[in-house]
Amino acid sequence: MDKLYDDLLATLGAKGVVQGNDVKTYLTDLQGFHSGSAEIVVRPASTEEVVATVKICAKHNVAIVPQAGNTGLCGGAVPAAGSGAVILSVSRMNQILNIDPQCYAITVEAGVILQAVHDAANGVDRAFAMDWGARGSAMVGGAISTNGGGLNVLRYGTARDQVLGLEVVLPDGKVWNGLRTLRKDASGYDLKQLFIGGEGTIGIITKACLKLHPLQPIDQSMLGEVADFKRLNQLFGLARDIGGDGLSAFELLPGEGVRRVPQVKPAISPPMESDAEWCILVRFSGRDAEQVESQLMAFFQQALDRELLGNAIISQSIAQEENLWHLRDEIPAENLYDGKAIKWDASVPIDQVTEFIEQAKHLVLTLRPQARFYAFGHIGDGNVHILVFPGGDGDGGEIDASDIDEICAELYARMDQLIWSFGGSICAEHGVGTENVERLTGQKSETELQMMRQIKRLFDPDGRMNPGKLISM
Ligand SMILES: Cc1cc2nc3c(=O)[nH]c(=O)nc-3n(C[C@H](O)[C@H](O)[C@H](O)COP(=O)(O)OP(=O)(O)OC[C@H]3O[C@@H](n4cnc5c(N)ncnc54)[C@H](O)[C@@H]3O)c2cc1C
Repeated sequence: MDKLYDDLLATLGAKGVVQGNDVKTYLTDLQGFHSGSAEIVVRPASTEEVVATVKICAKHNVAIVPQAGNTGLCGGAVPAAGSGAVILSVSRMNQILNIDPQCYAITVEAGVILQAVHDAANGVDRAFAMDWGARGSAMVGGAISTNGGGLNVLRYGTARDQVLGLEVVLPDGKVWNGLRTLRKDASGYDLKQLFIGGEGTIGIITKACLKLHPLQPIDQSMLGEVADFKRLNQLFGLARDIGGDGLSAFELLPGEGVRRVPQVKPAISPPMESDAEWCILVRFSGRDAEQVESQLMAFFQQALDRELLGNAIISQSIAQEENLWHLRDEIPAENLYDGKAIKWDASVPIDQVTEFIEQAKHLVLTLRPQARFYAFGHIGDGNVHILVFPGGDGDGGEIDASDIDEICAELYARMDQLIWSFGGSICAEHGVGTENVERLTGQKSETELQMMRQIKRLFDPDGRMNPGKLISM
C-alpha cells in the first residue's frame, strides 16, 4: 500500500490522494446503509488522471471502486471490507463543459451534481430529466452507472434514455471517446448502453453528453385520496388521457406517510386532513398556466365524477407546489421511522401495480402479522418501493437480532418470487450493487447471466473494476 500511495501521490499530487482518517467519509453511503473499507481514496481532476490511476492500480494489482455522490442504495460505491480496493471519487471532475440549447444537449464531467445540470439547463430555457430526492448529492457518473429513474421517467424515460454519448476510461487504461451528440447513429452496437447501468464494473465514466428537453416552466400538482385502490389504474389512465405529454408525474403515496412527514419534518406543512390509506400526487406541466390548470381541473372533476378520487387539494402557489414535492421527497420510510427495514425496489407491468401491492401486503402480513408494511411508487413506471419493518410495533418496529437473518431470508425469497410471478424486476431503478448480486440470479436465465459474465470478462479480464458488484465472475 505504501508504494501504491507513493506512486499515486507522485502522479496526482496531494489534492488527488486521500489517506488516513479522511478516508472514512467515503466508506459509508449517504444513507448509512452500506459500509466498507479502503485505505486510499483517489480524486483525479481529469480524464488523464483517471487513466494514470487505472494504470498505477493495475501495476500494483489493486482493484478500483468508482464513486460519485455515494447516494446509491445498493452498496455499489463502497469497497467490500478487506478487498484492498482503492476508491476512485469523481467529485473533482465537476465542470459543465458545454451547453447547447439549439441541439438540446449538455456535456459535463462525471462529478457534476444533478442539481447543477438542472440549474444550467433551466438557465437556457431547457429541462434536464434526471430528478429524484438525492438531486443535491447524486452525480452524473453515478446516475448513469445505476441507470437512475426517479420522478420524471413517465415523461422522459430513465437515465438510459438521456445519454447521447460517453467518454469512458477502460480497465486497461485506454480511453473510449464516444462523446457524441448524434440523435441517430445506426453504425452498429451501441456501446454506451453497456456502461449505462454498468455500475462501474467495466469502466469509469469520465464525461457525458446528455439530452435536454423543452422547459415546461409551469407545474401544478394535486394531492388526492385514492377512493378505490383497485381502480388506481383507471385513475392513472384518466390523467394520461387528459394530460397527454403534460402529465409529468403520477406518484402513489401511503396515507400514513402523508400524515407522518409533517410530524417528523416540521418544515413541511400538512397539505390536507386525510385518513385515506392511499393518496396520489399528480403533476401536470406545460408552458401555459391556464392550460395546465384547466387540464388538472378536468382530471380532478372527472375523477370525482367517476368516484375514483376522494378529498383532494390543488396547489395554488409556488410555495404550496414546493411543499407537496418536499413532502414527496421525504416519503421513503427510512426518513420517517426508526428500525431496520427490508426493502424492495420492484417493477411490474403498469396495469398490475395494485394487484401486486395487495398480494405483497398479504404475503408480508401472513408471514409476519406484526410487521409494518409500507409502500410507495412511481405508478406511471410500474415501480413500487416496498419497505417492511419486521417488528412492526412501536416507532417502525425493532427486530430481535437473533432471528433477523432467517426472517429476512424468507421475506426476500417469497417476495422476489412474487415479483417474478408478475414478470417484474427486483432492481427497478436503484441498481444491483452488492445487495442484489445473488438474488438477481433467480431473475435472469443462465443464458443472460452468461452473456453478462462474458461482457465483464471481455472488458475486465482481471476483475479489477468494482469487484463483487452487479455480476459475479
Ligand atoms: C434520498 C434518496 C432518494 C433517491 N431516490 C432515487 C430515485 O427516485 N430513483 C433512483 O433511481 N435512485 C434514487 N436514489 C438512489 C441514488 O441517488 C441513485 O442510485 C444515483 O444514481 C446514484 O448516484 P451517485 O452519484 O450517488 O452514485 P454512487 O452511489 O456514488 O455510485 C453508484 C454506482 O455507480 C458507480 N459509479 C459511480 N460513478 C461512476 C463513474 N464515474 N463511472 C462508473 N461507475 C460509477 C459506483 O461504483 C456504484 O456502483 C435515491 C437516493 C437517495 C439517498
